[in-house]
Amino acid sequence: MHRVVIVGSGLAGLFTAFRCANLGCEVLIVSEKGSSSEKAQGGIAAAVGESDSTALHFNDTLQAGNGLCDRHAVNVLVKEGFERVTELTELGLKFDEGLGREAVHSRNRILHIGDFTGKNMLSFMEELTQDIPREEGRVVGLLTEKEQCNGIIFERNGNVEQIPATVVLASGGFSALYSHNTTHQNITGDGLLLAYHAGAELKDLEFGQFHPTVFKNFLLSEALRGEGALIVNQKGDRLMKDYPLKELSGRDLTARVMQQKSLNGNTFFLDATGINHDFLKSRFSNIYKECLNMGVDLAKELVPIAPAAHYTMGGVHTDLNGRTSINGLFACGEVACTGIHGSNRLSSNSLLEALVFGARASNAASKEETRNAGEPCLIGKVPSEETKEIMWKYCGVIRNENLLKDGLSKISSKLAELVMASALARKESRGTHYREDYPKQNKPLHSFIRIDRDEVIFRVR
Ligand SMILES: Cc1cc2nc3c(=O)[nH]c(=O)nc-3n(C[C@H](O)[C@H](O)[C@H](O)COP(=O)(O)OP(=O)(O)OC[C@H]3O[C@@H](n4cnc5c(N)ncnc54)[C@H](O)[C@@H]3O)c2cc1C
Repeated sequence: MHRVVIVGSGLAGLFTAFRCANLGCEVLIVSEKGSSSEKAQGGIAAAVGESDSTALHFNDTLQAGNGLCDRHAVNVLVKEGFERVTELTELGLKFDEGLGREAVHSRNRILHIGDFTGKNMLSFMEELTQDIPREEGRVVGLLTEKEQCNGIIFERNGNVEQIPATVVLASGGFSALYSHNTTHQNITGDGLLLAYHAGAELKDLEFGQFHPTVFKNFLLSEALRGEGALIVNQKGDRLMKDYPLKELSGRDLTARVMQQKSLNGNTFFLDATGINHDFLKSRFSNIYKECLNMGVDLAKELVPIAPAAHYTMGGVHTDLNGRTSINGLFACGEVACTGIHGSNRLSSNSLLEALVFGARASNAASKEETRNAGEPCLIGKVPSEETKEIMWKYCGVIRNENLLKDGLSKISSKLAELVMASALARKESRGTHYREDYPKQNKPLHSFIRIDRDEVIFRVR
């Protein structure tokens, strides 16, 4: 039987595994513990509302993405997203009544299950995939042979094992490459490095999203602002009052304005005290409880906030079927760059991405031929705390040439180096990539990087 190994057990990994098993493959999930999926709060975007349409969802995604979205990919996302969400509800997943609102969405379109949608969706997928074998461990390398991937190398309790198979990377982004981040601490971009060392092309690495409302590395969902919460400074002035979408402005703009004003001595807070207290405590029960555990009553007090790394738009370059530039190697979910997010992801589009491109990757991977031989190609140790501090300081929300060059001279982690090199090479400001020395936009081009040249190439595709 055809063997597929899925690297990662977040939403993309489990959905891909479920689909591959249904297509008759022998499936193995190899994963570490912890994911971004389990932390997702706000929900999943789909044009299910009466006044909504996939055309509106398409337009909003393009608007957030700032000129770099691939229109064909976005079309697939919004249309098939609707179908995948319907598929899950038909399988028995139950969302709450009512649709949430988040930044840049022109309609209420966020399906949610309390304020821990990701955790609930994962539990549902865990049940559907309970018969699929799993190994817990870190995938530390791939078996490769002339632009061909033939399997994985994984480490468990100090033992290293090789498994020949078609490989689907569903290993998440690299937000935890930053000291300030909202995700699980193992989300440091291993999948990108695995692909890179195997010779696959990476794309748009300079685009990592910073979320503006983070309290001590704990996310305060944008859905709170969708229900009326405000961002204010120490004097009570609203941060976004002069921008057309106010508190529902894009994450890129909000995080940048906040960071710029912080550098001028301001401190910022989320003010959710205006939301009906009973509603706040039931709709956002998890966030309310977590804040209380950290000493703040969200219903009565302002919560101190600052931006933190949250999501990775760039990633392993794939086509719309999850194919990387290496045969036998597929990628889906946050680790992949299909072009749907452009330079700034629209909120709640990424759980949707996991389903849509997980399904497509499983269709393609299940047809691939498995080979046995291959040379081990390893990624090395997890990034150090020092690397994460350097990334935050030198390649954060606001960038410039001197900072990035200084950062590059200090960094020892390969992926951090590639991200910084990409940020240095993009001499414009677009979406989440803000260069104070190049504040304007150039022609919309993508950046690509691969091992045989190890330099950032900008081109349109
Ligand atoms: C706090 C927070 C809130 C969010 N809220 C939302 C939201 O409301 N709506 C939305 O659409 N998106 C949200 N997102 C983004 C969304 O959760 C993620 O983009 C999405 O879940 C990614 O799914 P994934 O399966 O691709 O990756 P992940 O869920 O991150 O899973 C990656 C998996 O790979 C494993 N892994 C990594 N490296 C290795 C390795 N070397 N070997 C073995 N296993 C490995 C990990 O352990 C994990 O199991 C949020 C993210 C965060 C952090």
